[in-house]
Amino acid sequence: MDLDTIAAISTPLGEGAIAIVRLSGEGAIAIADKLYKSPSGKRLNEVESHTIHYGHIVDPSTDEVVEEVMISLMRGPRTFTREDVIEINCHGGLVTVNRVLQLTVKYGARLAEPGEFTKRAFLNGRIDLSQAEAVMDLIRAKTDRAMNVALGQMDGRLSKLVKRLRQEILETLAHVEVNIDYPEYDDVEEMTHQMLIEKATIVKNEINKLLQTSQQGKILREGLSTVIIGRPNVGKSSLLNSLVHENKAIVTDIPGTTRDVIEEYVNVRGVPLRLVDTAGIRETEDIVERIGVEKSRKVLKEADLILLVLNYHEELTLEDIQLIEVVKGMDTIFIVNKTDLSRKIDLEKIEQLAEDRPIVTTSLLEEKGIDELEEAIGSLFFEGNVQSSDLTYVSNSRHIALLTAANQSISDALDGIEAGIPIDIVQIDLTRCWEQLGEIIGDSVHESLIDQLFSQFCLGK
Ligand code: GDP
Ligand code: ZN
Repeated sequence: MDLDTIAAISTPLGEGAIAIVRLSGEGAIAIADKLYKSPSGKRLNEVESHTIHYGHIVDPSTDEVVEEVMISLMRGPRTFTREDVIEINCHGGLVTVNRVLQLTVKYGARLAEPGEFTKRAFLNGRIDLSQAEAVMDLIRAKTDRAMNVALGQMDGRLSKLVKRLRQEILETLAHVEVNIDYPEYDDVEEMTHQMLIEKATIVKNEINKLLQTSQQGKILREGLSTVIIGRPNVGKSSLLNSLVHENKAIVTDIPGTTRDVIEEYVNVRGVPLRLVDTAGIRETEDIVERIGVEKSRKVLKEADLILLVLNYHEELTLEDIQLIEVVKGMDTIFIVNKTDLSRKIDLEKIEQLAEDRPIVTTSLLEEKGIDELEEAIGSLFFEGNVQSSDLTYVSNSRHIALLTAANQSISDALDGIEAGIPIDIVQIDLTRCWEQLGEIIGDSVHESLIDQLFSQFCLGK
């Protein structure tokens, strides 16, 4: 495939100070060469692949030196996009980086669309769709654990599993063919029947195993929606502050944040907590007072985790009991705060009301009990054991939807086999399952879906 040369500013992960102008395409080296001046006079089209070169970017029309740079030159296909790639490392501010970018455009490159580099890697067969999506997840990852999941997916872990399952289905389909072609042989039919059930069950189990990771996967990817509630003065703001302090907030501007619910992320033991309505806690102290009873019920209902704060130094009040009533049946951690003061609360009563949900005592003033709280949060969502990072998680809603559909198809196939439905009808369900799994890795994906997926990427990736 011959594509034009694209250019964008792209900053490497974790390194804010350096900006890179990245070029990819047939003309990448020639365009860079027009702008590059080396102290020794060497030309970029003469140098070896995968080498780095010091020099200056000079505006050819004025001979003015624009920037001092290091240029990485990589010839395809051993590059991310499989095309020739140039990376111009600039150390100057945004203005000079922009000028370098403008010069590449003036001399033949086109400004890349968001995600276009990754799209090229996909189109040129370098990565499959689930890997491309992992690149996007990686950019947005909020904790190390989320990053590991994305890295695993980028590494092709999900792809490999999906391909293996598709292979199983293909083999099964091949046996179905035998059965259709030679229906007169009884033993073939018998074997096929057994084998169909066996293989389809394997596929179904594997799909289900993947789907079971989706809850955790989604949490890692999107954060655990968390609400702190409690009467005035029990220590909600103190709790929020200590969570944010100990774990530093990760993201401040989240697209789609509505005006009346403000969110902040903190990383607790690898679990990204999305703290909902923290502004409410900070400003008016009372979520119910601020957004009204109905709305706060709605916020609570949509929360994945509720941190309910109670006062160790006071008896349970009617308001406490009402709050406990509201969070009945929800994932809640009970935090009994102010243990540095004398106990007036009835802990046994709380244990009753908590109904097996975790209770943690804290003195936020003396910074005690915070570890235990974080432990409780971690184990609530990773069931006590630290999940090994090589588990394949599905976290992407597109993948989850496709796996759910594939699960339906394979279940239909199994039901059909067991009910003795004609084998060519079972074949339809198996084929559908095979196609749905294929969409995860981008086999037979519609063109417009591809455009839509890649437009979600950050610029320069
Ligand atoms: P909120 O109204 O629920 O947000 O409560 P705040 O976090 O604003 O705390 C109310 C008051 O209790 C403040 O004066 C805090 O300093 C104090 N406070 C918070 N945690 C503790 C604690 O563990 N022990 C003591 N003695 N005071 C605390
Ligand atoms: Zn407060």
